[in-house]
Amino acid sequence: MQTKESAESIKTMARNLDPKCKQCRREGVKLFLKGERCLGSKCALIKRNYVPGVHGPKLGRGGRLTGYGTQLREKQKAKRTYLILERQFKKYFDMAIKKRGDTGKFLFQLLERRLDNVVFRAGMFLSRGLARQFVLHGHFLINGKKVDIPSYQVKVKEKISIAPSSLKKTAFQGLAEKMKGKELSDWLVFDPAALEITVVDSPDLEKSPTAFDLKQIIEFYSR
Ligand code: SF4
Repeated sequence: MQTKESAESIKTMARNLDPKCKQCRREGVKLFLKGERCLGSKCALIKRNYVPGVHGPKLGRGGRLTGYGTQLREKQKAKRTYLILERQFKKYFDMAIKKRGDTGKFLFQLLERRLDNVVFRAGMFLSRGLARQFVLHGHFLINGKKVDIPSYQVKVKEKISIAPSSLKKTAFQGLAEKMKGKELSDWLVFDPAALEITVVDSPDLEKSPTAFDLKQIIEFYSR
């Protein structure tokens, strides 16, 4: 029988273990994987803006990519941004393509509506990695019920709050104050009195520029 611990370790295991800054340097864009460090001059992409490896300084950002190469890089950027592995990402693509309409829009919504991303987008944490850790450790409730699954798809009207037993955690101390002036995604509303996030709309691709090209990703999987 699967214990709570083994279930958690399985959830925790499924992640990319490559060094975070190397992932940004490989893609040539800031993926904001390290929180505070990403915002300052210590960002590795500022100091070493070339592909990782011994020949990196000579190669710079590498040569021109083929069509396939560009598509692959865009897909990798998206996966690395949301900290998800190939199987899950492909599953999202398969779900998006089955829907009638704009596949890119549906894929974007599936990625954005992940619980770990929503908590990050609400501005509670400086990186998705940290947000995911807090979700995994059961610090969040949805409509009053504990949800510790980072891939949980939030729905419009759902309310995400902090578990009462977790309120004493350092990360949540003075949260209302810390959240003042933070720019939230416009499909989320934060109530500072209740320390609660409400999903008021669906994520809108038009209003949220992405670091990756969804069209290229669709072409990658449609080959
Ligand atoms: Fe990427 Fe952040 Fe490292 Fe900069 S500091 S390279 S944005 S993970």
